[in-house]
Amino acid sequence: MLSARDLWIDEKARRAGYENGAALASSHGLKTYRIDQLYHAAAKELAGNLDDVTALPKELRTTLASEGFTLDSVEPVVVQRSRDGQTTKGLFRLHDGNEVEAVLMEHHGERNTVCISSQAGCAYACTFCSTGQAGFTRNLTPTEIFDQARYFAKQLARQGRKITNVVYMGMGEPLANMDNVMASVALLNDAKGFGLGHRHITISTVGLVDKIDGFADEHTQVNLAISLHAPTDATRSTIMPVNRKFSTAELMAAVARYIAKTNRKVFFEYVMLAGVNDTDQHAHDLARLMKGPLYHVNLIPYNSTPDALLRGSDEQRIWDFAKILEQQRVAVTVRTPMGRDIAAACGQLRAETQPRAKAS
Ligand code: SAH
Repeated sequence: MLSARDLWIDEKARRAGYENGAALASSHGLKTYRIDQLYHAAAKELAGNLDDVTALPKELRTTLASEGFTLDSVEPVVVQRSRDGQTTKGLFRLHDGNEVEAVLMEHHGERNTVCISSQAGCAYACTFCSTGQAGFTRNLTPTEIFDQARYFAKQLARQGRKITNVVYMGMGEPLANMDNVMASVALLNDAKGFGLGHRHITISTVGLVDKIDGFADEHTQVNLAISLHAPTDATRSTIMPVNRKFSTAELMAAVARYIAKTNRKVFFEYVMLAGVNDTDQHAHDLARLMKGPLYHVNLIPYNSTPDALLRGSDEQRIWDFAKILEQQRVAVTVRTPMGRDIAAACGQLRAETQPRAKAS
């Protein structure tokens, strides 16, 4: 596999019209250390743009810029901050006009978590998700994924702060774009660059069974989260079409294989939808699927989407549901809703600013 630096320079070079980083370097007579300087400035020093990379001769910067070489592959078009200041949501434009979202959540200065997108749109059409309702456009490249985190890292750096966690819970299905996602993880993780530890990164999947097996074989310390949202096929298939391809039993078997191989904790996401998946019976069924301390349920209060037919469970119902799980000795947490005043759930900002891809 390519080093993170080579991966980065190859992609940036291709965007500027070269075959790869080596072709760009030879065309400008660049020594290896010049490429190192560029990568170091972007990934580690978090330079704002090419002009801030003062280690490079000005003439070279001007030439590279004129060829369309940029440090960033995503450009912020709308940035909104929640009233409490803890959630900042960005809508980013890609070179071809596609738009994706990323969100920074500042947990009282203790943790700064960025939620990033791995695809423009999503093919899995979960009924409660704005992104899913708008359909799939394309995979993001490794640097398009990485640069969303870089954007927020730059903002935090101005206050002497850092990103502590990255979650792949924005738009798209990360495991359907596995190669580019793992390459973006390499960029986030590179000790000579961004330097974020694998344990501080979480990849969330709709439940692609074959890809979960592939992910287990990566032997990475990156965390895995599963969007479960229902404990039975009857309920899950009504809100998650993917369940008709991979049943709940097959999904749980893949999780068991992953745990057997990695001995790592798995996080199960469960969006609480009133009258859909939030009854006592659902809680008991869910508890039966959770087989020990490495199974962790995260109950998520629903952020209602603009044209939602679904309603979120009320707070009391969420706590009662959690209590049943606890009584069955299931590890459970309830996610604190953040950024509701700025439509911070997956795909919501784009849904507000763009016409829908298809009428519904
Ligand atoms: N495709 C991946 C990652 C993207 S969604 C996956 O399915 O896991 C990230 C998480 O946000 C998922 O658990 C998803 O179900 C949840 N989510 C989507 N829309 C939501 C909404 N309106 N309110 C709360 N959570 C939502």
